[in-house]
Amino acid sequence: MKKFLIVLLAAAPGFLVGQKSIKEFYAKDINALSLKEHLEILASDSLEGRETGMEGQRMAADYIQRYFEEISLKPGNGNSYFQYFDIDLLKPATVTLNVADTVSLNFPDEIFYLGNVADQEIDFKELVFCGYGIEDSLVKDYDGLDVEGKVVLILNGEPKNEQGNFVLTGNARNSKWGRSPVSKIQLAREKGAKAIVEYNANLGSVAALYKRYLMRTRVSLSKEITEVEAPYIIVGDTLEGLLSGKSIVSLNNGDVIDLSGGISFVNNSTKGQSSNVLGVIEGSEYPDQFLVITAHYDHIGKNDSLVFNGADDDGSGTVTVMELAESFQKAAYDGYKPKRSILFMLVSGEEKGLLGSEYFTDNPTMDLGNVIANLNIDMVGRVDKEHENNPDYVYVIGSEMLSSELKTISEKQNKKFGKLELNYRYDDPNDPNRFYYRSDHYNFAKNNIPVIFYFNGTHEDYHKATDTVEKINFDKMAKIGRLIFHTAWELANRDELLPLDMLKD
Ligand SMILES: [Zn+2]
Repeated sequence: MKKFLIVLLAAAPGFLVGQKSIKEFYAKDINALSLKEHLEILASDSLEGRETGMEGQRMAADYIQRYFEEISLKPGNGNSYFQYFDIDLLKPATVTLNVADTVSLNFPDEIFYLGNVADQEIDFKELVFCGYGIEDSLVKDYDGLDVEGKVVLILNGEPKNEQGNFVLTGNARNSKWGRSPVSKIQLAREKGAKAIVEYNANLGSVAALYKRYLMRTRVSLSKEITEVEAPYIIVGDTLEGLLSGKSIVSLNNGDVIDLSGGISFVNNSTKGQSSNVLGVIEGSEYPDQFLVITAHYDHIGKNDSLVFNGADDDGSGTVTVMELAESFQKAAYDGYKPKRSILFMLVSGEEKGLLGSEYFTDNPTMDLGNVIANLNIDMVGRVDKEHENNPDYVYVIGSEMLSSELKTISEKQNKKFGKLELNYRYDDPNDPNRFYYRSDHYNFAKNNIPVIFYFNGTHEDYHKATDTVEKINFDKMAKIGRLIFHTAWELANRDELLPLDMLKD
């Protein structure tokens, strides 16, 4: 005890040794200058927008890892700072429909497909017409038909009655069968169809809607394709020309169309890898219990030479977590170890769908039941329109969703030390912006772990190449960092755990 005191006095001569002042001393260490130093590197063009699975993301991960090592955090995953996870880089498939040896239609200009499909070649000699491909109390397109092993031809949408209303709903609103193709695809697969060909007279508008989305590379957590499912393709008016004079609208359910050909899918997706970076300060009394502090270090990459720097999103949260780690570590060195362990974790894959935090909560490095709370920081470096004259604010989301006490603690710490405007405008799972679901804390909340999401709102540079360092307000960012430090200190050191009094079953 004495020794600690000496170190402390050497570090900070003259201040009163009470928990309050000790805490404030280390909180103040989070400052605009250090935040800026880190962010200028992480949000620089050389990191190419830190896109998950790309070189810039790996460079960012290495930078964070080196820093964790430099400040002597304990590696958070065995003896490694990294938690690697495999990803699929989902690229558009090469899809061709060959008909009658003469016509070859290709994705994405003449045909469309939806879903992730394994490599396959399907030959057919005929198509079986199955109306709209619906099976419901009022519409039974498969009645009396056996489509096992057949290629089915179905119409887009759903039938209307003479008044122009949808048959299934009796009004102008369509049913689930018309809203999305998912139910039809599932049903045809259940019936044993080997492929589903949908005719859509408005293929052009479908193309306009989906082409951009389908042509870009998407990223997901790696999944083995264990089952080869019947593919689904959409064909436009070119199909009618192939039906030897028949018009599609004149077909009846069960009509067999003599048409031979093949559907070919080549999956062009590739495998990649990404990582979360984890550093730990071990608790002095309850080392098995963890407070987890997170931000995502990935962003959306670059477009040719245009780099999306992601200074605010979420460079700001990343450097805040790094500075929080340093302050807690300094305190620990001076003898003020937290009672509980703190995991500082920078995740990736957030921009691709919260992948890194999903991987972590599915493959945690500790018993998830021992995670007492997650504080997640995503975009805390800018000021939104509503706060142009009051930059000292932060949107607080989720703090009483599972435990009312977390909100109480957060407010108390803010009243004493933070003095920021805590704004609860988005603190509602039903808010149309759905921010509660849109960052990594959600994967913790899903597992009944109380969370606080700290956020400054969106702005005109959100997900644009103009989200750059010189627009960051580092002073306000440091203030938010200090508030989080105080809240984290309280959570890591208080004797009681947070009661899950707001948990709904
Ligand atoms: Zn973000």
